[in-house]
Amino acid sequence: KQKHTQKEKVSNTQCPFCSVQCRMQLVEQTSVTRKTYRTVGLDNPTSKGRLCIKGLHAHQHAFHKDRLMHPLIKQDGEFVQVSWEEALSHIALNIKQIQHEDGYDAMSVYGSASITNEEAYLMGKFARVALQTKYIDYNGRLCMSAAASAGALTFGMDRGLTNALEEVSYSECIILAGTNIAECQPTIMPYFEQAKENGAFIIAIDPRETATTNIADLHLKLKPGTDAALANGILKVIVEENLIDHEFIQNRATGFEKVKQHLNRLSLEEIENKTGVPQNEIRRAAVAFGEKATGMILTARGVEQQTDGSIAVRNFLNILIATGKIGKPSCGYGAITGQSNGQGAREHGQKADQLPGYRSIENEEHRAHVAKVWGVDPEELPRKGVSAFEMIQKMDQGEIKGLFLLCSNPIVSNPNARFVKKALSKLKFLVAVDLFVSETAKLADVILPTTSYLEDEGTMTNLEGRVTLREASRPALGEARHDWQIICDVARALGKEQYFSFHSAEEIFNELREASKGGTADYYGITYDRLRGKEGILWPCPTLDHPGTKRLFEQSFAHPDGRAVMTDVPNDPAIAKEQPCARYPLYLTTGRVMSHYLTGVQTRKSSSLAARNFESFMEIHPDTAVKFGVQDETLVKIKSRRGSIIVRSKWSKAIRMDTVFVPFHWNELQNVNRLVEDKLDPTCRMPGFKVSAVQIEALHTM
Ligand code: SF4
Repeated sequence: KQKHTQKEKVSNTQCPFCSVQCRMQLVEQTSVTRKTYRTVGLDNPTSKGRLCIKGLHAHQHAFHKDRLMHPLIKQDGEFVQVSWEEALSHIALNIKQIQHEDGYDAMSVYGSASITNEEAYLMGKFARVALQTKYIDYNGRLCMSAAASAGALTFGMDRGLTNALEEVSYSECIILAGTNIAECQPTIMPYFEQAKENGAFIIAIDPRETATTNIADLHLKLKPGTDAALANGILKVIVEENLIDHEFIQNRATGFEKVKQHLNRLSLEEIENKTGVPQNEIRRAAVAFGEKATGMILTARGVEQQTDGSIAVRNFLNILIATGKIGKPSCGYGAITGQSNGQGAREHGQKADQLPGYRSIENEEHRAHVAKVWGVDPEELPRKGVSAFEMIQKMDQGEIKGLFLLCSNPIVSNPNARFVKKALSKLKFLVAVDLFVSETAKLADVILPTTSYLEDEGTMTNLEGRVTLREASRPALGEARHDWQIICDVARALGKEQYFSFHSAEEIFNELREASKGGTADYYGITYDRLRGKEGILWPCPTLDHPGTKRLFEQSFAHPDGRAVMTDVPNDPAIAKEQPCARYPLYLTTGRVMSHYLTGVQTRKSSSLAARNFESFMEIHPDTAVKFGVQDETLVKIKSRRGSIIVRSKWSKAIRMDTVFVPFHWNELQNVNRLVEDKLDPTCRMPGFKVSAVQIEALHTM
């Protein structure tokens, strides 16, 4: 064997498939007859060298034969290969025409949380300076917006975890709410296993039994969509049992009395009826969390992707504040981010209401700071736009006529997916930047080929708020260009070269540092030199000699008065969720499987990952299945008020009898988002992915 091995090339990189950002090495072996690749874990402070199956096989999509190598223009319904010059001048011509006829806001920008910080920053600048449109948002709106808004409103700042992950292992009580870490971020599961070995009491909140709930001492198997009520129930018992931290509340928070009055008006019986969780279990969870000296609460999409997701998270944060379990060792909050740069991509201006460093686009001082860095007149900066789904509604209404889409697949990932496809089909001009011809890219007028994680250089910010540098380990494939190069190229074609004359990701990062300086997410003290070959730095990091911030809120919160804000929950009918009825008798909830990432555009191209889950499925309790005449492993039609899909049934006692579960990584007739209601959270505009009402029909007879 050795005789035939000519050389081995090893390069360091990090996994692109979730927010843990596991460090790893790609090992390329070239022999006389063939080239092979394998991936091995690399030690780092977050995942400690561990990899899950997605990381182990991440390189497969990067080398896939379907990777886009050249720009494509659609002519007579077919994509034709063209030069970059031709593609760029075609794009500039069409954008100028649309904006000439219908104004700057007729163009829109839809970004991604899988791109680097530099690219996310540049997308915000591109929309506001090159296109001068207010319409920019990104796919993180569907992912992180509830936790982000809750953190900003309660603490005055939003960072995924308030503490470095290492503190989890020493926490005495941990609430895992709507998060399936064992499936979605498997390499951080050992922190929770270690906590359990150290004697921690773990409480899981989920309508399904999962590999994560299996490690819990107490599993609260609630009805989908009732997390906000359950959190209130837990806090009600904590207050009644006087397990609160009076001193912390008095010195560090506002709003407690109003919350207490609100809790007094609720009865545990009412909460039991609403959530389906017995009162004794709510009580047990509350006493366990309240009595321990340290405790952490972690939420994810199960809590957040609801029409009251922002409030649900705030209710969980109320528990932390009332018990004084924040800003101390092994006490704090964590939103377990899904997308690979779910944290960094939401900090620097890709959101409709935001400028870099978490600055507000409606704040005059903030606008002036960023305008100065960009060299533009603050008066000329567009104002706040609308969220991702609302932009799509404006496409349907004909108000938005053009879209620049970067590394995102909105016709699969948005709720009411058939409507979304119809809306995007109405666009006069669509540019898609992607690795593959995604379902959305098929609708495009121009597709531009981008580079994979192996070819990119740039910083990423993991779920802890740790900024790391991912250096390129391979040259770009074919004629593919980096996202940041593409953004600069289009800006140049539009005549805005002076604002986008960057030659490297590092140059962009240095401008980002200035733009974020003094903001909540302050990156000023972080440089490429400080990151190269190092463990990463947790923001905020305001000066070049600042070590970064592992634990937030030790002395004060980020609101101007230094206090956290507790909120009582209004009973807002606008956030009411679809409920099962005679026609649609079951809850539908959605989620992930370990082998796939987002809409599966990349992971469905990996043979090793696709083999594990090559098709979607519907998890259903056997008793429910029998009631509806659905056999195991057979095709079933699921129908909601918005459409229908056909998937294979999977009997499982792990799920509630009133609920079915379908993962969201597939397209067309297997795309569960065709069924999902498109109502939005009024605070953060997150769609309510986790709760819809459906009927099921066996496509066979029992
Ligand atoms: Fe690590 Fe997440 Fe990649 Fe798995 S998917 S290897 S947990 S970064």
